[in-house]
Amino acid sequence: MAFESLTDKLQDVFKDLRSKGRLTEADVKVALKEVKMALLEADVNFKVVKQFVKSVEERAIGQDVMNGLNPGQMVIKIVNEEMTSLMGSETQELQFQPGKATTVIMMCGLQGAGKTTTTAKLAGKFKLKGKKPLLVACDIYRPAAIEQLQINGEKQQVEVFSMGTSHSPVDIAKAAMEHAEKNGNNVVILDTAGRLHIDEGMMEELQKIKQAVTVHQTLLVVDAMTGQDAVNVAKEFDEKVGIDGVILSKMDGDTRGGAALSIKAVTGKPILYVGMGEKLSDLEQFYPDRMASRILGMGDVLTLIEKASANLDIDAGKEKEMAARMKKGKFDFEDYLESMKQMRNMGGLSGILSMMPGMGSKMGDIESMIDEKQLARMEAIVLSMTPQERRNPKLLNPSRKHRIARGAGVDISVVNRFIKQFEQSQKMMKQFPGMLGGKGARKGKF
Ligand code: GDP
Repeated sequence: MAFESLTDKLQDVFKDLRSKGRLTEADVKVALKEVKMALLEADVNFKVVKQFVKSVEERAIGQDVMNGLNPGQMVIKIVNEEMTSLMGSETQELQFQPGKATTVIMMCGLQGAGKTTTTAKLAGKFKLKGKKPLLVACDIYRPAAIEQLQINGEKQQVEVFSMGTSHSPVDIAKAAMEHAEKNGNNVVILDTAGRLHIDEGMMEELQKIKQAVTVHQTLLVVDAMTGQDAVNVAKEFDEKVGIDGVILSKMDGDTRGGAALSIKAVTGKPILYVGMGEKLSDLEQFYPDRMASRILGMGDVLTLIEKASANLDIDAGKEKEMAARMKKGKFDFEDYLESMKQMRNMGGLSGILSMMPGMGSKMGDIESMIDEKQLARMEAIVLSMTPQERRNPKLLNPSRKHRIARGAGVDISVVNRFIKQFEQSQKMMKQFPGMLGGKGARKGKF
């Protein structure tokens, strides 16, 4: 889970601070020393940590804070604000060319950083904004990379331009520009080749592409899990090629957070997006304030609400029907499958919980309590039913239940128990319709 270990440590420090009614200078210093250790262990750049702690200390030891009503809370607030400013304060939006002009984006990064995946993720985001993107396969060294871009492009239903491996990346980029002009693509995303390590050849190639076509945005993809290495890579690319922004991939697996906290401070370049998983929908805009809240274990309710409303928008009709059926106690197994799908779209149960305030440090416990296998077993049972049985559970007589148990590969007792529980919840829904958000509970959009 993102930032888990850093969040845990910071929450311990904050618990101590909160428990004290009054704070002395020495208390603050001790707490900040622990914050410093936690940040260093999270692989945040040393200079950045030093500056950060200094800024927090200067503000925290001020008269107003120490004599205030709730000094512990004030110190935490300062840490939150300073962390937000460390990551760039304002959210940076990717800049498109005005009007109908085509925006050219060059993606770069080391091999395996997540460049090709991110290129396709971005294309999906741009499509939602009404753009017509063209993905361009400029990695001529790995035929597999071209194929991967084509597969992902198809999934996102965006066009992929490729000339195989026998032309230079510069020629491919130029030809792609002509193609985009003819076909009305208003965003061109160049997926360039990465190497295992920084090397001169790679940098030169990127410089040549930039000389041959007008690149409006050079975006670097770095792997968040590599911590300070990611920061060094960003520095190097910025010096050699010049970058406009960074996309941090694999944040979902980064328990430490060092790269997220250092990149802006070290390179001066903003983080625009973060990759939160392997699925092509797992790309989130980067909000420094929300990220600081997540790191400090205060949750990220705003992102959760956005995900939920995006999800409800897609299935608004279905959701309304489902709520109406629930109130009448007619929630059936088709509805059950639909709710499972919606939950998965929002990142699964653990994904949703991780964004709730205070969940950071408890995620480990909760994850072990949620038995994902159990959920999969229930789904297998429902999938083994016929559509008629799902819509009308009353049809489920013993012989049908035996067939379902065989289909799902579980014992008949499991099927019986599941169906019984399902019937009980149905009854409850009917008895307590208020629980489902009675009159006006969800007016408009949250
Ligand atoms: P490239 O060599 O830079 O083009 O990297 P790829 O796009 O091929 O990605 C390398 C691996 O990282 C693939 O297995 C991707 O599925 C995975 N990956 C990319 N982005 C993310 C992310 O945000 N989270 C996770 N968990 N995996 C990712």
